[in-house]
Amino acid sequence: MSLPVLECRQIYKSFGGVTVLNNVDFILEKGEIHALVGQNGAGKSTLMKIINGVYTQDSGTILIEGKEQIYKSAQEARRAGISMVFQDFSLVPTLSVSQNIFLARELSGGHLGLDDRRMEEITQKLLDSIGIDISIHPRDYVENLSVGSKQLVEIAKALSTDSKILIFDEPTVGLDPTQIVEIRGLIRRLAENSTVLFSTHILSEVEALCDRAIILINGQVRADARLSELAATSDAILVLDRQTSGVQEALGRLDHVRDVSAFVTSDGYPAFRTLGSSSTWPTAARPLHRRRPTTPSTSRRSSPPCRGP
Ligand code: ADP
Ligand code: MG
Repeated sequence: MSLPVLECRQIYKSFGGVTVLNNVDFILEKGEIHALVGQNGAGKSTLMKIINGVYTQDSGTILIEGKEQIYKSAQEARRAGISMVFQDFSLVPTLSVSQNIFLARELSGGHLGLDDRRMEEITQKLLDSIGIDISIHPRDYVENLSVGSKQLVEIAKALSTDSKILIFDEPTVGLDPTQIVEIRGLIRRLAENSTVLFSTHILSEVEALCDRAIILINGQVRADARLSELAATSDAILVLDRQTSGVQEALGRLDHVRDVSAFVTSDGYPAFRTLGSSSTWPTAARPLHRRRPTTPSTSRRSSPPCRGP
């Protein structure tokens, strides 16, 4: 079997004493599309920035094609063939679209000394290659662009150098429904030549796009499986973000659920393991959701409703 393109081993990261990534292990396999799934605050951006050299992990190892790597900046990672589309844009607002793209290329060691016209031509080609009908001119200043257009320039910037690993942090946020479909098409096309990791908190995006899903809850990998394996399981785990009475009984009454057992997760959340068809989950989530108190949780963390297998 060939080596994974990227391997994260026992990654830990904390900010100000708060653990954000807790023993994260996973691999990216060549040419596949991987989704990093988790709610806001789960640690997705932090993990991606560690892979991309923006942050350094407190401990743990990142291997690229079997060799341990520590990148000290996003430019260093780009030179090694890892590009990232940042969620909190990496563009300089007071520069034009083409200046932003060429700043990235120059910092990564390519194409120095081109005149403005040539840079604009190359930028236009790059924007065209995204295959999305957008009216962005290479000379537009980034600060004047809409959120969706900035997102597309951010993508063009990531694609301006050849990459073996492409990381997209929530790539469809701020785009309209047509653009979302087009970006998914683009990601599929890019996966023909690169390995892709994208993050999302939208489950339909996972089904639409990925080969493999890595589910991150409160900084821990709680599931890591091919989509076909997840679809085949009939069991599920429900993790609540607070103690709620009557849940076990409500789950037990659902059609197809054969058995429900309660347990507490390692980080102290009430949880239930069910055996039976996971097709009942959308039905189950609605009445459970209505039981939640209206006051917001004081916890920093909140857990998604279920995982499998
Ligand atoms: P996600 O991308 O899944 O929404 P993040 O990785 O952005 O999650 O954030 C995970 C947690 O780490 C959050 O609680 C966030 O406030 C915290 N965090 C992220 N970056 C920093 C930082 N630079 N300094 C302090 N805390 C941070
Ligand atoms: Mg994020």
